Amino acid sequence: MSLSKSLLLRLSRSMTLRDFIIGFSVARRMSRRFVAGETLEEAIGAIRSLNQRGLLATIDHLGESVTSEGEALQAMEEYLRALDGLAESGVDSGVSLKLTQMGLDIEQTFCQGNVAQIVEKAKRYGIFVRIDMEGSPHTERTIQVYRALRQRYDNLGIVIQSYLYRSEGDVRQMIPQGLNVRLCKGAYDEPPDIAFPDKKDVDANLIKLTEMLLTEEARKAGCCPALATHDEKIIDWCKEHVQKEGIGKEEFEFQMLYGIRPRLQEELAAQGYRVRAYVAYGNSWYPYFMRRLAERPANLLWPLKNLFKA
Ligand SMILES: Cc1cc2nc3c(=O)[nH]c(=O)nc-3n(C[C@H](O)[C@H](O)[C@H](O)COP(=O)(O)OP(=O)(O)OC[C@H]3O[C@@H](n4cnc5c(N)ncnc54)[C@H](O)[C@@H]3O)c2cc1C
Repeated sequence: MSLSKSLLLRLSRSMTLRDFIIGFSVARRMSRRFVAGETLEEAIGAIRSLNQRGLLATIDHLGESVTSEGEALQAMEEYLRALDGLAESGVDSGVSLKLTQMGLDIEQTFCQGNVAQIVEKAKRYGIFVRIDMEGSPHTERTIQVYRALRQRYDNLGIVIQSYLYRSEGDVRQMIPQGLNVRLCKGAYDEPPDIAFPDKKDVDANLIKLTEMLLTEEARKAGCCPALATHDEKIIDWCKEHVQKEGIGKEEFEFQMLYGIRPRLQEELAAQGYRVRAYVAYGNSWYPYFMRRLAERPANLLWPLKNLFKA
């Protein structure tokens, strides 16, 4: 991992820097490149516009690593409100959430109870819920909560990161149960004893895991993977692979982040692929924004340019 990437990821966890940065209106404006807005209404407006361009969505109310039960309950309430908003507006969107926002670091059963309320309500609305994957201290507990809830709810999916060595084993176990997995490279700063240090290995593993989830056995079991990447080489590989194997366009989907490669998103949708954009909204944009800068250090030039324009 490059020095700048690793530094940005470390800064994304700094509460002091967060409190300093979010106070600046220019910083808030810059975050808008990746964040649909601060309110649910703004996020729904963005989703409506994506839907009109043939794209699906998953909405994320920004927030993570909460330290009090009150904050977790507030986050849960916001998700319940978001579900009502999605249903009332009639837009086509699922929801994505992070377990540390729901209280995973406070108490696992408490967190699971909060997520259950969201998934239960989402099920009544016919809305799919995805549990995002956070840093490695949370991987095992995230999978445990997911597995427990998945026994009761089928409108629930998980995320697996191709940078972790353990992911192949996790995917192997999920296939016979037909679980719904979003595959991504992974956005956190992980040590080489648990994660591939070289990008080419992370990329190769993303292809390997996608292939595993697209086998006939996996598809028959009910797996319908989401390949979450903006990497055109991997997207092109996937398009060729599904064509060669006779896999239908409805048996998987591409996912990308709101604000990143929007033209590619539209092109794929126009070619008949299912494409879902991850639409984040809310005030707690700092760690999410910093991870987006870390993914592409060239993005740093862009906020700097904006800073001088302000
Ligand atoms: C829908 C979705 C959900 C995700 N959920 C999770 C999750 O739950 N847990 C998790 O750890 N990670 C998650 N991620 C993030 C993911 O792990 C990667 O960090 C991120 O997608 C960048 O990797 P890449 O696959 O796009 O490939 P890269 O090799 O990093 O990038 C390929 C190309 O995409 C473009 N690109 C990529 N990132 C950016 C950016 N930030 N700004 C501008 N251009 C960019 C560039 O053109 C780049 O050359 C998610 C990603 C997506 C798309």
